[in-house]
Amino acid sequence: MRYLVSANWKMNKTVAESLEYLEIFLPKVEDITAVDIMIAPSFTALASASLKLEHSHVYLGAQNMYYMDKGAFTGEISPLMLTELDVDYVILGHSERRHLFCEKDDLINKKMISAVEHGIRPILCVGETLEERELGKTLNVVEKQIRTAVAGIEKDMIYIDIAYEPVWAIGTGVNATPKQAQEVHRFIRELISDISKGNDEKTRILYGGSVNDKNASELIKEPDINGFLVGTASLDPDKFFNIISHVIEA
Ligand code: PEP
Repeated sequence: MRYLVSANWKMNKTVAESLEYLEIFLPKVEDITAVDIMIAPSFTALASASLKLEHSHVYLGAQNMYYMDKGAFTGEISPLMLTELDVDYVILGHSERRHLFCEKDDLINKKMISAVEHGIRPILCVGETLEERELGKTLNVVEKQIRTAVAGIEKDMIYIDIAYEPVWAIGTGVNATPKQAQEVHRFIRELISDISKGNDEKTRILYGGSVNDKNASELIKEPDINGFLVGTASLDPDKFFNIISHVIEA
């Protein structure tokens, strides 16, 4: 399985700043073919980033999308708008979308179906809050999020990646320990194998939540961690490159 290291820039970097980053970053990863690399800039930077990535093997990602092709949905971005820009991946169900913008499982399911139909590879984010973890509900929460998100597209699991991102670890500087992450990743691996009847050999299970160039090498040693979704540390091209290097070394 090819591992995937992906950057979620969230609401950071203007178009100029995004291009400045890529100027520094792309030469560093020019010769890297052992892992897949993806960058998800802001929507406004997608078009310029797409041009910049045209002759590189770095994939382009969007941070969200709506599920309809077009219509009266003020402020939303359609899958057609993304495919026009050669967007390869879309991050769906991110905890910030779930918690700050009240996205529910059934909406995420519609987006997942639409992404797969349009050939945009979704990275489905799942994860428990601190309260849910303390109540021992982690695996139940993750199972419900995954089952509802992939309802109707179980046979397409091969086109989907999953990011386990405990909410308490995102942007907090407190990452899950390798053991904590591995426990959930193993559970997800078995769950998706069951859901997809084994048609999941290309589904990567990424870990996300305060990954940095210090903790990446330990986390990636775990057998069911197949890459990362990186927020804060991906904003610095050197740090993001170091994380990629740790994944390659593993
Ligand atoms: C994320 O937003 O997907 C994320 C993992 O953020 P951070 O790396 O900052 O915790």
